[in-house]
Amino acid sequence: MSFDAIVIGAGFAGLYAVHRCVSEGLTVTGIEAAPSVGGTWYWNRYPGARCDVESVDYSYSFDEGLQNDWTWSERFAAQPEILAYLDHVADRLDLRRHYRFSAEVVRARFDAGEWVVDTSAGDSFRGGGLLHRGVAARGPGSARQEDRRDRYGVVGHRGGYLPRVTHTF
Ligand SMILES: Cc1cc2nc3c(=O)[nH]c(=O)nc-3n(C[C@H](O)[C@H](O)[C@H](O)COP(=O)(O)OP(=O)(O)OC[C@H]3O[C@@H](n4cnc5c(N)ncnc54)[C@H](O)[C@@H]3O)c2cc1C
Repeated sequence: MSFDAIVIGAGFAGLYAVHRCVSEGLTVTGIEAAPSVGGTWYWNRYPGARCDVESVDYSYSFDEGLQNDWTWSERFAAQPEILAYLDHVADRLDLRRHYRFSAEVVRARFDAGEWVVDTSAGDSFRGGGLLHRGVAARGPGSARQEDRRDRYGVVGHRGGYLPRVTHTF
């Protein structure tokens, strides 16, 4: 299957990337290892998990309607409410139909001017652009998993990076 863009992840960044692609009239598929949207907020459900910036600052600001129809119940929202918010965003913007859930990207390579992305489900997708957590990859290159650390210095957590990947961010 071939698309203008392939987006990896259904967290804050991925959902917005898919929405933006659709808004721009591009064909897009999202690929997410989890069975649903949420990203970090799907995977991290430990007691006490919550955002540490104010909830209103953590929500999307690109759509006034979206902002007006969601009221945060706490100044610093807890994980269940943030996940509920992202579920709401996905439904309101009708984003789920663009996603393959429960599919992990196991390989991405740049071939003949296109990205070829293979998933753990055995599917293969081709795309002119590849976005991982909203970051665009435009050409070939290499980055190993151990080269990539999240901002808290953790390597290889579920919100992490492509294994055995060949790409440039
Ligand atoms: C407890 C906690 C509190 C936080 N508080 C704040 C805060 O207050 N403010 C703030 O700015 N940030 C905060 N963060 C950071 C948070 O991670 C980001 O704000 C944001 O949710 C990240 O969104 P994202 O879409 O970039 O990535 P993620 O939410 O990590 O989503 C990435 C998604 O990509 C999927 N994925 C990754 N690799 C693959 C693959 N190979 N194949 C298929 N799918 C893949 C993952 O399954 C995941 O669902 C907090 C994080 C935690 C855990």
